[in-house]
Amino acid sequence: MLQNKDFDGNINFMALTLNYTYRLYPDHSQVELLNEWLETCRISYNYALRELKDWIASRKCPIDRCSLESEYIMSADYPFPGYHQQQNNLPAAKKKFPLLAAVPSQVLQTNIRRLHDAIDFFLLRGYGFPRFKKYGQMKSLLFPQFRSNPLSDWQIKLPKLGRVQINLHRPIPEGFAIKQVRVIKKAKGWFAIISIQSDIEIPHPIPHGHCIGVDVGLLSYCATSDSFVEPGRKFFKTLHRRLEVLQRRLSKKQKRSLNYEKARKKVEALHNHIAFKRKDYQFKLAHKLCEMADTIFLEDIDFRIMAKGFLGKHTIDAGFGQFRSILKYVGWRSGKFVAEVDHRGSSQICPNCRAEVRKELSDRYHICSLCGYGVDIQINRDIASAQELCNRGLETYRGTPEKQEIGSQVVLSGNLVLDKWRSGATPLGFPEHGNAHQERGASSNREVRSPSPF
Ligand SMILES: [Zn+2]
Repeated sequence: MLQNKDFDGNINFMALTLNYTYRLYPDHSQVELLNEWLETCRISYNYALRELKDWIASRKCPIDRCSLESEYIMSADYPFPGYHQQQNNLPAAKKKFPLLAAVPSQVLQTNIRRLHDAIDFFLLRGYGFPRFKKYGQMKSLLFPQFRSNPLSDWQIKLPKLGRVQINLHRPIPEGFAIKQVRVIKKAKGWFAIISIQSDIEIPHPIPHGHCIGVDVGLLSYCATSDSFVEPGRKFFKTLHRRLEVLQRRLSKKQKRSLNYEKARKKVEALHNHIAFKRKDYQFKLAHKLCEMADTIFLEDIDFRIMAKGFLGKHTIDAGFGQFRSILKYVGWRSGKFVAEVDHRGSSQICPNCRAEVRKELSDRYHICSLCGYGVDIQINRDIASAQELCNRGLETYRGTPEKQEIGSQVVLSGNLVLDKWRSGATPLGFPEHGNAHQERGASSNREVRSPSPF
């Protein structure tokens, strides 16, 4: 996604780049060829990494040592093997090694680029130096350039590979050009990630319309401030027993045998299946939430830390971090404003009077003794927490009158149908500065409009 930032770092417009994933069905000979290319790419990646490591080691070594006793010594004027140098060495290497010549040249070049991207990233953050790839660890090839549209009649034309069957379940939208294609090998089969780009610019969504807060958790996967509760889902746990069986079978096989490989693929395919199920569910849920509101506020919690604590395995199983980024993406695509707000203590505060109401983890309902919120109707603690998140979002992202006008234009152009669908719901609007009373009124109105199912 390309972003244009102004001097304050605000994102104004985005040139549209989208990645669409499709299943590929290469025939037997094409699979063989792709596997060969992956292996060649792996070897060239490792060679390039060896060159780099040698250079770095030789610069660390004392100057008066011999190559036999210490590091491999390079002459002092030997340049650092940067991306362009290693890429320019490829044509000469192809004459020596015909295997290299079999792979499309741009695929090899992007493969080297990938190594240097990894090193740049290492230099940026200070850890994670690239490692040598073992047999079978190279999983994808990038075709970075296409002169004309490679798609035609359920087939994609790739250089040196020819036409490959593709399941174009989702058509490429009008006005988009195919920029690059990444072919990925997974246990479930082959996939193509097609990067499509359009020069149209769409405005970044701003806070507008009906707002909700979304609280994620294990007991209920998510709860919104409008009292919508999605029950918790366990993707890994439901298939855990099956995985146990497969892994036990794998452990009984002789290593490196054909049967071991077959059993290993079954384990890999099941992991693959679990990941696909989770992602599919999260996309559907994200679309559901985006249909419910125009502005969504989420917790800014670091789920990696949450996963280190109590019920860590189940937290990882739920994949909340992935869900948050999927929700942001879906929101951006459908013109909805999605933002993170401070999560600290959101479950311990009454969304109606904003007083602290201490709860243990076993207290499932919110009852405020100060304002009586939750006394007559039982309020689920997750819903109360989501309402508090919504309050915080409204405080943080107040729309100015001009901004609200732009916001409503976006609504009119993009989501007319949805507005009709939601005609019963009255938009909350943004409270004025320092008018806490209105906020209280708004949050209690919300409860009257849609009573809690609990
Ligand atoms: Zn209260």
